[in-house]
Amino acid sequence: MDFELDEDQVALAELAKGLGGRLKDEYWQDVDENHKFPEEFWNDLASHDLLGIAIPEEFGGIGKGLLEMAIAVEALSEGGAGMEGGALFVSGPVFAGCLITRHGSQKQKETYLPGLVAGDLWAGAFTEPDSGSNISTIRTQATRRGDSYFINGQKVFISQMAHSKHIVVMARTQAYDPAHRTRGISLLLGDLPSPAVEARPFKKMGNHFMDTNAVYFTDYEVPVDNVVGPEGDAWSPMYDVLNPERIILAATAVGTGNLAIRKAVEYAANREVWGRPIGAHQGLQFPLAHARIELASARLKVYEAAWLYDHGLDCGIQAAMAKYSATHASLDAADAAIQTLGGAGYISESGIERHWRNLRLNRIAPVTDEMTLNYVAQHDLGMPRSY
Ligand SMILES: Cc1cc2nc3c(=O)[nH]c(=O)nc-3n(C[C@H](O)[C@H](O)[C@H](O)COP(=O)(O)OP(=O)(O)OC[C@H]3O[C@@H](n4cnc5c(N)ncnc54)[C@H](O)[C@@H]3O)c2cc1C
Repeated sequence: MDFELDEDQVALAELAKGLGGRLKDEYWQDVDENHKFPEEFWNDLASHDLLGIAIPEEFGGIGKGLLEMAIAVEALSEGGAGMEGGALFVSGPVFAGCLITRHGSQKQKETYLPGLVAGDLWAGAFTEPDSGSNISTIRTQATRRGDSYFINGQKVFISQMAHSKHIVVMARTQAYDPAHRTRGISLLLGDLPSPAVEARPFKKMGNHFMDTNAVYFTDYEVPVDNVVGPEGDAWSPMYDVLNPERIILAATAVGTGNLAIRKAVEYAANREVWGRPIGAHQGLQFPLAHARIELASARLKVYEAAWLYDHGLDCGIQAAMAKYSATHASLDAADAAIQTLGGAGYISESGIERHWRNLRLNRIAPVTDEMTLNYVAQHDLGMPRSY
């Protein structure tokens, strides 16, 4: 077993760490407070080829894997970009990149992958109001007429609609069969904006760099050629999106947790209230050290899960564990960082509370803690399905 990063991976991590720190906290505070899409940062990612890390070279990418994407994302987040810096990778390299690279036709690869590398944003529409965590019961329907599908239905909590050029929609191309719940579901690629797609944004707690919406499809036309993978049998391709999404958000959480710890350690070295730096108090050191240990363990799970994915092996359990452990480790880190700063930690200007608000989402999306534990209990421990 080799734990050493190779030369390319080290160079990638260094590049990403530098880019993550290029835009200062004031930039990210502005993004957060004014609900802006971080265009300057996104353009930086594209111009340094980071959006194409896991895209084959023949389509303009650099031909590496999910492990390299995870290494880069972690470094971007830790370098200063936080949750914003890594989570953005879901809206392109993961939703479209992982899906199309593994399951797309040659024509789909030629049509979409070069644009993705250059910075096209993608939304992914899976969740529905009445199905929630149980996505096998989705109702959005794609009905074939001639050479097109016409999509009708409602999705909820769909992010990055305002700026996306394309969307992956999960819809039924065959009627729901309770005996075979996952049969009849397809993944379709569409263009945005469209008068047939209405997005109504929600106000939310954090992650203001992305809009999150209720989305309504009314006769949204998608060519038959835009079905990715086998028509009516998208369950397995779907997991080649959901698992990388968990892994990349876990890498983001590890990086963001370490960023919060760094900010806390720097603050604690300079702040004095009893005649010596507050960082000298063991009471402040222990929670930070505790979170650091949790983050280091979570990082190993992230790398392991990404490695399994890259080798075409089943990574479901490791991806679930990576996402769960990184989520909790990073929240512990952000919480300890807030505590270290005292009152200043609660004030937005200090650039700490934002990390906690953003990271809190990972306990809910893209999969909840409870569903993750259900999955591990059933598939790793072999216990009966409890629901
Ligand atoms: C900011 C944000 C951005 C998002 N972006 C996207 C996006 O871009 N695309 C997209 O498709 N989706 C997106 N989502 C949706 C997200 O994936 C879902 O919110 C998540 O999967 C949970 O579904 P739900 O909200 O319907 O919760 P529900 O399924 O209604 O669950 C509610 C609660 O019940 C618990 N629960 C449910 N079933 C069980 C069970 N069997 N055992 C134990 N507990 C259970 C859950 O764990 C949870 O705590 C986003 C969500 C948010 C908040």
